[in-house]
Amino acid sequence: MSAAVRLVFVAIIAFTLAACAQPAHPPDHAETTAPATVSNADPKVAEVQGVLDSFAQAQHAGDTDALEKLIHPNADESFVRREIQRSVSLASAPIVSWSYYLADGPEQFLSTDAIQHLNARDVWAPEIRTRYAYDNEVGHADRPATLFLALHGDTWLIAGDTDEHAQSMGVPRKQWSGPWDFDVLSSQTKDSQGIRFVLVAPADMDERLAEIAESLPTVASEADGFWETPWADEVVIVLATDSAQLAALAGGFGNDGDDGNHKGGNIAAVAIANPATSASPADGQRVIINTQVFDTLSADQRQATLKHELTHVITRSRTAPSTPLWLKEGTADFVGRTGTSIELFDGAPNAVRMVRQFGPPDSLPRDDHFHADTQSTVLAYELSWSFALFIADEFGPSAVRETYFAIAETGGGNEAIDRGLREALGIGYAEALTRWSMWWANNIE
Ligand SMILES: [Zn+2]
Repeated sequence: MSAAVRLVFVAIIAFTLAACAQPAHPPDHAETTAPATVSNADPKVAEVQGVLDSFAQAQHAGDTDALEKLIHPNADESFVRREIQRSVSLASAPIVSWSYYLADGPEQFLSTDAIQHLNARDVWAPEIRTRYAYDNEVGHADRPATLFLALHGDTWLIAGDTDEHAQSMGVPRKQWSGPWDFDVLSSQTKDSQGIRFVLVAPADMDERLAEIAESLPTVASEADGFWETPWADEVVIVLATDSAQLAALAGGFGNDGDDGNHKGGNIAAVAIANPATSASPADGQRVIINTQVFDTLSADQRQATLKHELTHVITRSRTAPSTPLWLKEGTADFVGRTGTSIELFDGAPNAVRMVRQFGPPDSLPRDDHFHADTQSTVLAYELSWSFALFIADEFGPSAVRETYFAIAETGGGNEAIDRGLREALGIGYAEALTRWSMWWANNIE
Protein backbone atom coordinates (compact mmCIF):
# COMPACT_ATOMS: atom_id res chain seq x y z
CA MET A 1 0.00 0.00 0.00
CA SER A 2 1.56 3.32 -1.00
CA ALA A 3 1.82 6.24 1.37
CA ALA A 4 -0.54 8.21 -0.84
CA VAL A 5 -3.49 5.90 -0.27
CA ARG A 6 -2.63 4.96 3.23
CA LEU A 7 -4.76 6.03 6.12
CA VAL A 8 -3.08 6.33 9.44
CA PHE A 9 -5.16 5.15 12.31
CA VAL A 10 -5.07 7.47 15.24
CA ALA A 11 -6.78 7.29 18.61
CA ILE A 12 -9.31 9.68 19.92
CA ILE A 13 -10.02 9.30 23.54
CA ALA A 14 -12.17 12.18 24.50
CA PHE A 15 -10.88 14.28 27.32
CA THR A 16 -13.44 13.72 30.00
CA LEU A 17 -14.16 16.84 31.88
CA ALA A 18 -14.35 16.21 35.54
CA ALA A 19 -15.82 19.65 35.60
CA CYS A 20 -18.71 21.36 37.25
CA ALA A 21 -20.46 20.66 34.05
CA GLN A 22 -19.94 17.55 32.04
CA PRO A 23 -19.85 17.79 28.25
CA ALA A 24 -23.28 17.69 26.68
CA HIS A 25 -22.75 14.28 25.14
CA PRO A 26 -19.81 12.54 26.74
CA PRO A 27 -18.57 9.73 24.50
CA ASP A 28 -19.69 6.36 25.81
CA HIS A 29 -16.18 5.04 26.18
CA ALA A 30 -14.92 8.09 28.00
CA GLU A 31 -15.73 6.71 31.44
CA THR A 32 -14.44 3.22 30.78
CA THR A 33 -11.09 3.67 29.08
CA ALA A 34 -8.30 4.50 31.48
CA PRO A 35 -5.27 6.11 29.87
CA ALA A 36 -2.34 3.85 30.70
CA THR A 37 1.26 4.13 29.65
CA VAL A 38 2.23 1.75 26.85
CA SER A 39 5.13 -0.66 27.20
CA ASN A 40 8.21 0.60 25.36
CA ALA A 41 9.60 -2.85 24.68
CA ASP A 42 8.74 -2.05 21.02
CA PRO A 43 11.75 -0.13 19.57
CA LYS A 44 9.42 2.25 17.67
CA VAL A 45 7.62 3.11 20.90
CA ALA A 46 10.92 3.60 22.72
CA GLU A 47 12.26 5.84 19.96
CA VAL A 48 9.11 7.95 19.74
CA GLN A 49 9.01 8.31 23.53
CA GLY A 50 12.60 9.54 23.31
CA VAL A 51 11.62 12.16 20.69
CA LEU A 52 8.70 13.26 22.85
CA ASP A 53 11.00 13.55 25.89
CA SER A 54 13.44 15.76 23.96
CA PHE A 55 10.57 17.81 22.53
CA ALA A 56 9.09 18.37 25.98
CA GLN A 57 12.47 19.35 27.35
CA ALA A 58 13.03 21.88 24.54
CA GLN A 59 9.52 23.32 25.01
CA HIS A 60 9.92 23.65 28.76
CA ALA A 61 13.28 25.37 28.40
CA GLY A 62 12.04 27.63 25.60
CA ASP A 63 14.94 26.25 23.52
CA THR A 64 13.57 26.95 20.06
CA ASP A 65 16.70 25.75 18.23
CA ALA A 66 16.45 22.31 19.84
CA LEU A 67 12.71 22.36 19.18
CA GLU A 68 13.07 23.02 15.45
CA LYS A 69 15.53 20.12 15.08
CA LEU A 70 12.83 17.79 16.39
CA ILE A 71 10.20 18.94 13.88
CA HIS A 72 9.90 17.26 10.48
CA PRO A 73 11.37 19.50 7.72
CA ASN A 74 8.15 19.19 5.69
CA ALA A 75 5.81 20.07 8.55
CA ASP A 76 3.42 22.99 7.95
CA GLU A 77 5.08 26.33 8.53
CA SER A 78 2.14 27.47 10.61
CA PHE A 79 2.62 24.45 12.88
CA VAL A 80 6.32 25.24 13.35
CA ARG A 81 5.60 28.90 14.09
CA ARG A 82 2.94 27.96 16.62
CA GLU A 83 5.18 25.46 18.39
CA ILE A 84 7.96 28.05 18.68
CA GLN A 85 5.57 30.63 20.10
CA ARG A 86 4.15 27.99 22.41
CA SER A 87 7.53 27.10 23.87
CA VAL A 88 8.36 30.77 24.46
CA SER A 89 5.05 31.16 26.34
CA LEU A 90 5.50 27.88 28.18
CA ALA A 91 8.89 29.01 29.45
CA SER A 92 7.12 32.02 31.04
CA ALA A 93 4.79 29.79 33.10
CA PRO A 94 5.76 28.64 36.61
CA ILE A 95 5.78 25.01 35.51
CA VAL A 96 8.26 22.66 37.16
CA SER A 97 7.57 19.48 35.26
CA TRP A 98 6.42 19.01 31.67
CA SER A 99 6.38 15.75 29.72
CA TYR A 100 4.52 13.61 27.19
CA TYR A 101 3.69 9.97 27.42
CA LEU A 102 2.31 7.42 24.99
CA ALA A 103 -1.01 6.22 26.35
CA ASP A 104 -2.45 2.83 25.65
CA GLY A 105 -5.21 3.72 23.22
CA PRO A 106 -6.16 3.14 19.58
CA GLU A 107 -4.47 5.29 16.97
CA GLN A 108 -6.16 8.06 15.01
CA PHE A 109 -6.83 8.18 11.28
CA LEU A 110 -5.21 11.00 9.38
CA SER A 111 -6.41 11.75 5.88
CA THR A 112 -4.17 11.19 2.89
CA ASP A 113 -4.30 14.92 2.20
CA ALA A 114 -3.14 15.69 5.67
CA ILE A 115 0.00 13.61 5.36
CA GLN A 116 0.78 13.72 1.64
CA HIS A 117 2.85 16.89 1.75
CA LEU A 118 5.08 15.38 4.44
CA ASN A 119 6.35 12.97 1.79
CA ALA A 120 7.15 10.55 4.57
CA ARG A 121 7.48 6.78 4.45
CA ASP A 122 5.39 6.41 7.57
CA VAL A 123 3.26 8.61 9.78
CA TRP A 124 2.13 7.73 13.27
CA ALA A 125 -0.50 9.39 15.47
CA PRO A 126 -0.68 7.39 18.67
CA GLU A 127 -2.57 8.45 21.79
CA ILE A 128 -0.25 11.00 23.41
CA ARG A 129 -0.93 12.77 26.68
CA THR A 130 0.70 15.70 28.45
CA ARG A 131 1.57 15.53 32.10
CA TYR A 132 2.61 18.71 33.85
CA ALA A 133 2.74 20.39 37.24
CA TYR A 134 2.95 23.96 38.46
CA ASP A 135 5.41 25.02 41.11
CA ASN A 136 4.70 23.18 44.37
CA GLU A 137 1.82 21.20 42.89
CA VAL A 138 1.37 17.77 44.38
CA GLY A 139 0.43 15.41 41.55
CA HIS A 140 0.18 16.27 37.87
CA ALA A 141 -2.36 17.53 35.41
CA ASP A 142 -3.05 14.89 32.79
CA ARG A 143 -4.38 16.24 29.49
CA PRO A 144 -4.66 15.11 25.86
CA ALA A 145 -1.90 16.13 23.46
CA THR A 146 -2.44 16.40 19.72
CA LEU A 147 0.99 15.76 18.22
CA PHE A 148 1.67 13.22 15.50
CA LEU A 149 4.97 12.00 14.10
CA ALA A 150 6.45 11.13 10.71
CA LEU A 151 9.59 9.36 9.55
CA HIS A 152 12.36 11.51 8.09
CA GLY A 153 14.80 8.99 6.67
CA ASP A 154 14.95 6.54 9.54
CA THR A 155 14.21 9.05 12.24
CA TRP A 156 10.84 9.80 13.81
CA LEU A 157 10.14 13.52 14.11
CA ILE A 158 7.22 15.64 15.31
CA ALA A 159 5.15 16.35 12.19
CA GLY A 160 1.94 18.16 13.09
CA ASP A 161 -1.21 18.53 15.14
CA THR A 162 -3.98 15.91 14.85
CA ASP A 163 -6.64 18.44 15.88
CA GLU A 164 -5.93 20.43 12.72
CA HIS A 165 -7.05 17.45 10.65
CA ALA A 166 -9.77 16.14 12.94
CA GLN A 167 -12.59 18.13 11.40
CA SER A 168 -11.89 17.05 7.82
CA MET A 169 -11.86 13.45 9.06
CA GLY A 170 -15.15 13.86 10.90
CA VAL A 171 -13.59 12.86 14.22
CA PRO A 172 -13.95 14.90 17.40
CA ARG A 173 -11.18 17.29 18.24
CA LYS A 174 -9.45 16.83 21.57
CA GLN A 175 -9.70 20.57 21.98
CA TRP A 176 -7.62 21.21 25.01
CA SER A 177 -5.35 24.21 25.25
CA GLY A 178 -3.07 25.40 28.00
CA PRO A 179 -2.83 29.12 28.80
CA TRP A 180 0.61 29.14 27.06
CA ASP A 181 -1.19 28.39 23.79
CA PHE A 182 -2.51 31.94 23.79
CA ASP A 183 0.10 34.25 25.21
CA VAL A 184 3.12 34.69 27.43
CA LEU A 185 2.02 34.52 31.03
CA SER A 186 2.37 36.25 34.31
CA SER A 187 1.70 34.52 37.60
CA GLN A 188 1.32 35.08 41.32
CA THR A 189 1.06 32.87 44.34
CA LYS A 190 -1.09 33.46 47.39
CA ASP A 191 -0.94 31.34 50.54
CA SER A 192 -4.07 31.12 52.65
CA GLN A 193 -5.51 28.52 55.06
CA GLY A 194 -2.49 26.33 54.40
CA ILE A 195 -3.36 26.27 50.70
CA ARG A 196 -1.18 27.69 47.97
CA PHE A 197 -3.08 29.38 45.20
CA VAL A 198 -1.17 29.67 41.94
CA LEU A 199 -2.74 32.26 39.66
CA VAL A 200 -1.84 32.36 36.00
CA ALA A 201 -2.96 34.91 33.41
CA PRO A 202 -1.94 36.49 30.12
CA ALA A 203 0.89 38.95 30.82
CA ASP A 204 -1.29 42.04 30.37
CA MET A 205 -3.78 41.02 33.07
CA ASP A 206 -1.62 41.62 36.15
CA GLU A 207 -4.12 43.94 37.76
CA ARG A 208 -6.99 41.46 37.56
CA LEU A 209 -4.68 38.74 38.82
CA ALA A 210 -3.89 40.84 41.88
CA GLU A 211 -7.58 41.61 42.52
CA ILE A 212 -8.56 37.97 42.45
CA ALA A 213 -5.55 36.96 44.59
CA GLU A 214 -6.64 39.60 47.12
CA SER A 215 -10.12 38.11 47.44
CA LEU A 216 -8.93 34.53 47.94
CA PRO A 217 -8.29 34.46 51.71
CA THR A 218 -11.91 35.40 52.42
CA VAL A 219 -13.51 33.02 49.94
CA ALA A 220 -11.16 30.18 50.85
CA SER A 221 -11.86 30.66 54.54
CA GLU A 222 -15.64 30.67 53.98
CA ALA A 223 -15.61 27.62 51.73
CA ASP A 224 -13.23 25.81 54.07
CA GLY A 225 -15.40 26.72 57.08
CA PHE A 226 -18.44 25.19 55.46
CA TRP A 227 -16.84 21.92 54.34
CA GLU A 228 -14.64 21.20 57.38
CA THR A 229 -12.77 18.59 55.42
CA PRO A 230 -9.16 18.34 54.23
CA TRP A 231 -8.69 19.44 50.62
CA ALA A 232 -6.05 20.28 48.06
CA ASP A 233 -2.71 21.76 49.15
CA GLU A 234 -2.65 23.79 46.00
CA VAL A 235 -5.24 25.28 43.68
CA VAL A 236 -4.38 26.65 40.26
CA ILE A 237 -6.53 29.50 38.99
CA VAL A 238 -6.24 30.40 35.32
CA LEU A 239 -7.68 33.59 33.85
CA ALA A 240 -9.19 33.47 30.36
CA THR A 241 -9.84 36.59 28.31
CA ASP A 242 -13.17 35.41 26.86
CA SER A 243 -15.62 32.52 26.40
CA ALA A 244 -13.69 30.94 23.53
CA GLN A 245 -10.52 30.82 25.62
CA LEU A 246 -12.42 29.47 28.60
CA ALA A 247 -13.84 26.67 26.44
CA ALA A 248 -10.39 25.79 25.08
CA LEU A 249 -8.74 25.87 28.50
CA ALA A 250 -11.48 23.67 29.91
CA GLY A 251 -11.13 21.14 27.12
CA GLY A 252 -13.79 22.34 24.71
CA PHE A 253 -16.75 21.72 26.93
CA GLY A 254 -18.92 24.09 24.94
CA ASN A 255 -21.62 26.16 26.44
CA ASP A 256 -22.37 24.45 29.72
CA GLY A 257 -20.65 25.39 32.91
CA ASP A 258 -21.09 27.80 35.75
CA ASP A 259 -22.36 31.07 34.58
CA GLY A 260 -21.84 32.71 37.94
CA ASN A 261 -24.95 34.78 38.02
CA HIS A 262 -26.96 32.58 35.69
CA LYS A 263 -27.05 34.95 32.79
CA GLY A 264 -27.36 31.99 30.53
CA GLY A 265 -24.61 30.99 28.16
CA ASN A 266 -22.11 33.46 29.56
CA ILE A 267 -19.99 31.27 31.76
CA ALA A 268 -18.04 33.09 34.45
CA ALA A 269 -15.94 30.18 35.65
CA VAL A 270 -15.49 26.45 35.51
CA ALA A 271 -13.56 23.90 37.57
CA ILE A 272 -11.87 20.92 35.94
CA ALA A 273 -9.55 18.10 36.99
CA ASN A 274 -7.90 15.06 35.47
CA PRO A 275 -10.22 12.61 33.68
CA ALA A 276 -12.25 10.49 36.09
CA THR A 277 -10.61 7.43 34.54
CA SER A 278 -7.04 8.58 35.07
CA ALA A 279 -4.81 7.23 37.81
CA SER A 280 -5.18 10.53 39.65
CA PRO A 281 -8.71 11.90 39.13
CA ALA A 282 -8.52 14.47 41.95
CA ASP A 283 -5.21 15.90 40.65
CA GLY A 284 -4.74 18.51 37.98
CA GLN A 285 -7.50 20.71 39.38
CA ARG A 286 -7.88 24.04 37.66
CA VAL A 287 -10.34 26.84 38.26
CA ILE A 288 -10.71 28.79 35.03
CA ILE A 289 -12.22 32.25 35.18
CA ASN A 290 -13.69 33.99 32.14
CA THR A 291 -12.74 37.59 32.93
CA GLN A 292 -15.03 38.93 30.22
CA VAL A 293 -18.04 37.73 32.23
CA PHE A 294 -16.46 37.86 35.69
CA ASP A 295 -15.76 41.59 35.30
CA THR A 296 -19.47 42.29 34.79
CA LEU A 297 -20.45 40.61 38.09
CA SER A 298 -21.15 42.41 41.34
CA ALA A 299 -18.75 41.91 44.27
CA ASP A 300 -21.20 39.42 45.80
CA GLN A 301 -21.54 37.49 42.56
CA ARG A 302 -17.76 37.28 42.18
CA GLN A 303 -17.41 35.92 45.70
CA ALA A 304 -20.22 33.46 45.04
CA THR A 305 -18.56 32.32 41.80
CA LEU A 306 -15.18 31.75 43.45
CA LYS A 307 -16.72 29.88 46.41
CA HIS A 308 -18.83 27.83 44.00
CA GLU A 309 -15.71 26.70 42.11
CA LEU A 310 -13.73 26.09 45.30
CA THR A 311 -16.57 23.84 46.43
CA HIS A 312 -16.00 21.68 43.34
CA VAL A 313 -12.28 21.59 44.17
CA ILE A 314 -12.86 20.73 47.84
CA THR A 315 -15.43 18.01 47.17
CA ARG A 316 -13.79 16.49 44.06
CA SER A 317 -12.18 13.53 45.82
CA ARG A 318 -15.49 12.65 47.48
CA THR A 319 -17.68 13.02 44.39
CA ALA A 320 -18.40 10.26 41.89
CA PRO A 321 -18.48 11.05 38.14
CA SER A 322 -22.19 10.12 38.12
CA THR A 323 -23.17 12.26 41.11
CA PRO A 324 -26.38 14.04 40.07
CA LEU A 325 -25.79 17.60 38.90
CA TRP A 326 -28.61 18.96 41.06
CA LEU A 327 -26.53 17.92 44.08
CA LYS A 328 -23.18 19.13 42.72
CA GLU A 329 -24.39 22.45 41.36
CA GLY A 330 -27.09 23.18 43.94
CA THR A 331 -24.66 22.63 46.79
CA ALA A 332 -21.92 24.67 45.09
CA ASP A 333 -24.36 27.56 44.60
CA PHE A 334 -25.50 27.24 48.21
CA VAL A 335 -21.94 27.49 49.54
CA GLY A 336 -21.12 30.20 47.01
CA ARG A 337 -24.05 32.41 47.91
CA THR A 338 -24.06 31.92 51.68
CA GLY A 339 -22.79 35.12 53.27
CA THR A 340 -23.68 37.24 50.23
CA SER A 341 -26.80 39.32 49.73
CA ILE A 342 -28.12 36.92 47.05
CA GLU A 343 -31.46 35.48 48.14
CA LEU A 344 -34.17 33.30 46.61
CA PHE A 345 -36.03 36.04 44.78
CA ASP A 346 -33.03 37.70 43.13
CA GLY A 347 -30.94 34.54 42.86
CA ALA A 348 -33.62 32.34 41.28
CA PRO A 349 -35.94 34.72 39.38
CA ASN A 350 -36.80 32.15 36.70
CA ALA A 351 -37.75 29.47 39.22
CA VAL A 352 -39.84 32.00 41.15
CA ARG A 353 -41.68 32.94 37.94
CA MET A 354 -42.20 29.29 37.07
CA VAL A 355 -43.61 28.45 40.50
CA ARG A 356 -45.94 31.46 40.37
CA GLN A 357 -47.22 30.35 36.99
CA PHE A 358 -47.32 26.55 37.28
CA GLY A 359 -47.04 25.78 40.99
CA PRO A 360 -44.17 24.30 43.04
CA PRO A 361 -41.81 21.74 41.47
CA ASP A 362 -42.24 18.08 42.35
CA SER A 363 -38.97 16.72 40.99
CA LEU A 364 -35.34 17.78 40.84
CA PRO A 365 -33.67 18.70 37.53
CA ARG A 366 -32.21 15.81 35.55
CA ASP A 367 -28.59 16.03 34.35
CA ASP A 368 -29.68 16.67 30.78
CA HIS A 369 -31.59 19.76 31.89
CA PHE A 370 -28.19 21.31 32.69
CA HIS A 371 -27.09 20.82 29.10
CA ALA A 372 -30.26 21.85 27.33
CA ASP A 373 -31.08 25.32 26.03
CA THR A 374 -30.05 28.33 28.08
CA GLN A 375 -33.43 28.72 29.76
CA SER A 376 -33.56 25.10 30.98
CA THR A 377 -29.97 25.28 32.15
CA VAL A 378 -30.61 28.42 34.15
CA LEU A 379 -33.76 26.94 35.65
CA ALA A 380 -31.92 23.72 36.52
CA TYR A 381 -29.29 25.67 38.48
CA GLU A 382 -31.93 27.74 40.25
CA LEU A 383 -34.11 24.79 41.27
CA SER A 384 -31.07 22.82 42.47
CA TRP A 385 -29.96 25.74 44.59
CA SER A 386 -33.50 26.05 46.01
CA PHE A 387 -33.36 22.41 47.15
CA ALA A 388 -30.20 23.19 49.16
CA LEU A 389 -31.87 26.34 50.54
CA PHE A 390 -34.84 24.24 51.63
CA ILE A 391 -32.55 21.75 53.42
CA ALA A 392 -30.70 24.59 55.17
CA ASP A 393 -33.98 26.26 56.23
CA GLU A 394 -35.56 23.12 57.65
CA PHE A 395 -32.58 21.08 58.86
CA GLY A 396 -29.79 23.65 59.31
CA PRO A 397 -26.89 24.62 57.00
CA SER A 398 -24.68 21.71 58.09
CA ALA A 399 -27.38 19.32 56.79
CA VAL A 400 -26.51 20.56 53.26
CA ARG A 401 -22.96 19.29 53.76
CA GLU A 402 -24.17 16.02 55.31
CA THR A 403 -26.59 15.45 52.44
CA TYR A 404 -23.77 16.05 49.96
CA PHE A 405 -21.41 13.58 51.54
CA ALA A 406 -24.18 10.99 52.06
CA ILE A 407 -25.06 10.97 48.35
CA ALA A 408 -22.11 12.25 46.27
CA GLU A 409 -19.78 9.30 46.75
CA THR A 410 -22.49 6.79 45.87
CA GLY A 411 -22.93 8.41 42.46
CA GLY A 412 -26.70 8.82 42.86
CA GLY A 413 -29.56 6.68 41.62
CA ASN A 414 -32.95 6.88 43.35
CA GLU A 415 -32.19 4.26 45.98
CA ALA A 416 -28.86 5.78 46.94
CA ILE A 417 -30.42 9.24 47.07
CA ASP A 418 -33.20 7.89 49.29
CA ARG A 419 -30.68 6.22 51.62
CA GLY A 420 -28.46 9.31 51.70
CA LEU A 421 -31.36 11.64 52.53
CA ARG A 422 -32.55 9.31 55.32
CA GLU A 423 -29.03 9.28 56.72
CA ALA A 424 -28.55 13.05 56.54
CA LEU A 425 -32.08 14.37 57.12
CA GLY A 426 -34.04 11.45 58.55
CA ILE A 427 -36.57 11.56 55.70
CA GLY A 428 -36.70 9.66 52.39
CA TYR A 429 -36.57 10.98 48.81
CA ALA A 430 -40.34 11.20 48.27
CA GLU A 431 -40.96 13.03 51.53
CA ALA A 432 -38.04 15.40 50.86
CA LEU A 433 -39.54 16.33 47.47
CA THR A 434 -42.99 16.88 49.02
CA ARG A 435 -41.56 19.07 51.74
CA TRP A 436 -39.48 21.01 49.19
CA SER A 437 -42.68 21.68 47.21
CA MET A 438 -44.38 22.92 50.37
CA TRP A 439 -41.34 25.10 51.18
CA TRP A 440 -41.68 26.67 47.72
CA ALA A 441 -45.42 27.20 48.21
CA ASN A 442 -44.81 28.91 51.55
CA ASN A 443 -42.04 31.12 50.16
CA ILE A 444 -44.00 32.27 47.18
CA GLU A 445 -47.11 33.35 49.07
ZN1 LIG B 1 -20.44 24.27 39.18
